[in-house]
Amino acid sequence: MKDSRFETSFDVVRWLESEAAGLWPTLLGSLSFRRSPCVRENCPACMSGEQHPSYVLYGRRKGRRVAVYVPAELVPEVQRGLDNGRALQELLQQAAPRYVKALKRERTEARKNRKS
Ligand SMILES: [Zn+2]
Repeated sequence: MKDSRFETSFDVVRWLESEAAGLWPTLLGSLSFRRSPCVRENCPACMSGEQHPSYVLYGRRKGRRVAVYVPAELVPEVQRGLDNGRALQELLQQAAPRYVKALKRERTEARKNRKS
């Protein structure tokens, strides 16, 4: 990696693109595990208090919370997407100050060149 004190805004964009390339699928939301009762009468699982385990993904659409049932066998894949989402957020957090610093350096350089 190039020394961040000398990188250009273009370097930051390229760095972000290459880091993000391995982070797909990228998902935001939260996966939660719950146990819920069913509608069957005299269900042994419900009567024992064990109930029925399931996973639900909570996300947002146009500001409203949406819940989607996630079958157990899809949980690892969904979890990987959510982990990638967190990693991408972390990258974007790192990119912002680096990008702004690079833009400021470029502005300073452009001013120097105009004067000389
Ligand atoms: Zn049941």
